[in-house]
Amino acid sequence: MAFEGLAERLQGTLDKIKGKGKVTEADVDEMMREVRLALLEADVNFKVVKKFIKQVKERAVGQEVLKSLTPGQQVIKVVNEELQELMGGEQSKIAHADKPPTVVMMVGLQGAGKTTTVAKLANHLRKEHNRQPLLAAADIYRPAAIDQLETLGKQLDMPVYSLGNQADPVDIAKGAVAQAKDEHRDYVLIDTAGRLHVDEDLMGELQRIKEAVQPEEILLVVDAMTGQDAVNVAESFNEQLDVNGAVLTKLDGDTRGGAAISVKAVTGMPVKFAGMGEKIDQLEPFHPERMASRILGMGDVLSLIEKAQTDVDEDRAKELEKKMRQADLTFDDFLEQLQQVKKMGPIDEVLSMMPGANKMKGLKNAQVDDSQITQVEAIIRSMTRAEKEDPSLINASRKKRIAKGSGTAVKDVNRLLKQFEDMQKMMKQMSSMQKGKGKKKGKN
Ligand code: GDP
Repeated sequence: MAFEGLAERLQGTLDKIKGKGKVTEADVDEMMREVRLALLEADVNFKVVKKFIKQVKERAVGQEVLKSLTPGQQVIKVVNEELQELMGGEQSKIAHADKPPTVVMMVGLQGAGKTTTVAKLANHLRKEHNRQPLLAAADIYRPAAIDQLETLGKQLDMPVYSLGNQADPVDIAKGAVAQAKDEHRDYVLIDTAGRLHVDEDLMGELQRIKEAVQPEEILLVVDAMTGQDAVNVAESFNEQLDVNGAVLTKLDGDTRGGAAISVKAVTGMPVKFAGMGEKIDQLEPFHPERMASRILGMGDVLSLIEKAQTDVDEDRAKELEKKMRQADLTFDDFLEQLQQVKKMGPIDEVLSMMPGANKMKGLKNAQVDDSQITQVEAIIRSMTRAEKEDPSLINASRKKRIAKGSGTAVKDVNRLLKQFEDMQKMMKQMSSMQKGKGKKKGKN
């Protein structure tokens, strides 16, 4: 997962100041020295780091006083807000034309993930916004790019416009837009060619396509793994094409995260989406606020809830969230959560969004497979209603009965009870961490 090193270092630094009832200028200086190093090490652009540190210092020293927070917490709040601001502040959404189709051009270097992202975005638009996209295969140079898009189109059951690899990409783009108009499609997503480096031919071709189809949105796909290079590439594309936003791919990989933090600050281009894996559903809208709190270890309860909501009834999810915050889950809720977690996808991805999960080393490699979940389900289902609501009732003879009923052993029942207790404790910690948050933003 991206940002791991940065998150760990920043959290270590912030932990030192968190509980302080009094924060001196020297404390802030000391802390900012460490923050600076952590950011530079994560490959954040040095100019961006300099500005960030200056800003945080100014605000942290001439602190606006909030009664509800300790001085240490206030400093963290400033760091969080500034980090969020650096990544673009508010979430930046994809354009939507008044008159369909909305034309989106996907540009970027070869291998950045354009073709994959076209398919992911199409899937996102249909699933989350109920839009019907047409995909256009205008990368005629990279061998197999057209085949790849056609395969993805089949997988999604979505039409792909192609004229083979002998046609002019400008004609392909124009043809696709015309077909989308005829067929009343909401979006046309044009996959364009890339090169290994930015070059004039490529830019010329992209400019001609832009001229011909007047896209509402040009999205630049950048590979987050390439760090500062990604930022340089973004600058050149932006100069030539006036790009509307970036999609950062491969944020699931071992990237240090510098690109994600610097792109907006250096180029002014907001990051609109993040690619979190090779699969078609692994594209997420980029939320600066959530990303900042994820980096600072404040967790990402919001993302977690949203992920759950795609499959779960909204009211029920809110209710569960409240229970999580108040730490009064019952075993019935636990069971429901388990089922949702199963739907949400890989457990480590879900865990990485949880507050403090970065610090729980043991959890990082947690392997939860379906058979374990099935066993837990069986144990819970063997409990009586009263036991589910108040696990402290479960004495030795009840444990035996539950183990028998679920076809497990007493030690399995014990393990689950212990896990449940630990989870309750974690929820309590989480809710006390959350109490300091969510107050009105105080900005200079
Ligand atoms: P293009 O040349 O820009 O069209 O790049 P492709 O779409 O063919 O992607 C290049 C490689 O990157 C492929 O192997 C993709 O599966 C992979 N890829 C794209 N996006 C992501 C991502 O978000 N995470 C990971 N891990 N791999 C990705």
